[in-house]
Amino acid sequence: MEIQLFNTMGRQKEIFRPIHEDHVGMYACGPTVYDYQHIGNMRTYIFEDILRRILEYNGYSVKHVMNVTDVGHLTSDADVGEDKLMKKIRESGLSPSVETMMKLAQKYEDRFFEDCAKLNILKPTIVCKASEHVPEMIQFIKRIESNEYTYPTSVGLIFNSRKYTHYSALAKLNLDKQKAGARVKVDPERRNPSDFALWVSNQPSHLMQWESPWGRGFPGWHIECSAMSIKYLGDHFDIHAGGIDHIPVHHTNEVAQSESATGKKWVNYWLHGEFLVLDKEKMSKSAGGFITLENVVKQKIHPLAYRYMCLTAHYRSTLSFSWDNLKMAQKAYNSLKNRIELAKHEEGSANPTLKEEIATEFLNHINNDMNLPQALGVVWTMLKSDLSGVEKISLVSKFDGVLGLNLIEENTISIEAEQLIKDRENARKNKDWERSDFIRDQLLKLGIVIEDTPNGTRWKTK
Ligand code: AMP
Ligand code: ZN
Repeated sequence: MEIQLFNTMGRQKEIFRPIHEDHVGMYACGPTVYDYQHIGNMRTYIFEDILRRILEYNGYSVKHVMNVTDVGHLTSDADVGEDKLMKKIRESGLSPSVETMMKLAQKYEDRFFEDCAKLNILKPTIVCKASEHVPEMIQFIKRIESNEYTYPTSVGLIFNSRKYTHYSALAKLNLDKQKAGARVKVDPERRNPSDFALWVSNQPSHLMQWESPWGRGFPGWHIECSAMSIKYLGDHFDIHAGGIDHIPVHHTNEVAQSESATGKKWVNYWLHGEFLVLDKEKMSKSAGGFITLENVVKQKIHPLAYRYMCLTAHYRSTLSFSWDNLKMAQKAYNSLKNRIELAKHEEGSANPTLKEEIATEFLNHINNDMNLPQALGVVWTMLKSDLSGVEKISLVSKFDGVLGLNLIEENTISIEAEQLIKDRENARKNKDWERSDFIRDQLLKLGIVIEDTPNGTRWKTK
């Protein structure tokens, strides 16, 4: 069965035809590590993880490359403002040095990958940091410059967006209607409103600086994704994914500079995930007031319940966040896991034809532009079907390769509940019955029923 994906470039569903027969090159823009990632960001990484898993389910081996932006991302996407990491250092009252900057970036990167692990997001095949690829970026800019797509100004080397004739293709921008000042603060030296910096120089207050043919400075934000994706995936590769906010500026600029350097098509399929929204506003770091995975766990909700919630909406639809919705997702996730536990003990005779039909139905949904809500529906109905317990479990295990919900593992409970169960075991060892009973009641409030049997303590969800 062929995979159909909605390609932002053509604004339509297309049959996925990889460049190579059996492997796929996929690049996804990673985090800017000046703060924690919020659960909106994590929705995008879950979507990209599922995309990769679907490709693998279909038999491709996937080389998944993700960047980590630790330098050069300014507070505005349009090359103005302060470096996001430097702003964070200033606001945190830390002493400004390259070392502090790197430490801070590492802290947020580590936290990001911890959150990914809790959400069962597979680690990309290659994770590449911007600060470790500046020589590659300089080489890449030289290619663009030698093809005469650039001009220098007093702030660095600028990309001439009007010279690249397909500039508006991805975002369907109307360049003639763009006014100076609409995207970039009026810079009299720039020839067009959509021109952007490839290299930024003459910024003595910027902490991280490198020598370059255009003066001492640092790379513009967009260039890292072009230079690093091409380093690891080649001049032309299959898929580029990211959040929908990146279409008009970041991805548009990535395409322009990549194709101007190589002189040929860069990426075949562009996939964009819609936003997680909070009270009808997008959840954003810069606007403040964002929810992290840690906040979710503190509310006694398991990270995989959040993953489950993400799977209930199509990746191209906005998903409204509310604590009530998330609690409902936790309930649904618990009942799904309970239902699977029951299936483990079910008997019944084998029904290979039905099993095959259900597997095909699941495949049809995931290959239909990643229709995960429908695929999840197949899991629920399959559990009610006439298949034997063994067949049900074998399908759940296969499907979970895509869903990544740990469906076969023993019931998943929140990290807090896990800790309480351990505390209770300790209390019992110490014969502290009062504390043990107190913790039992606490667990009951979390929906966990404890049973002390001659073979030890067991628990189940209510
Ligand atoms: P950033 O660290 O800001 O570069 O964002 C990392 C990723 O999260 C990018 O792919 C963004 O498009 C995506 N993103 C940002 N905000 C949201 C949101 N509210 N919902 C879904 N994805 C988001
Ligand atoms: Zn990018």
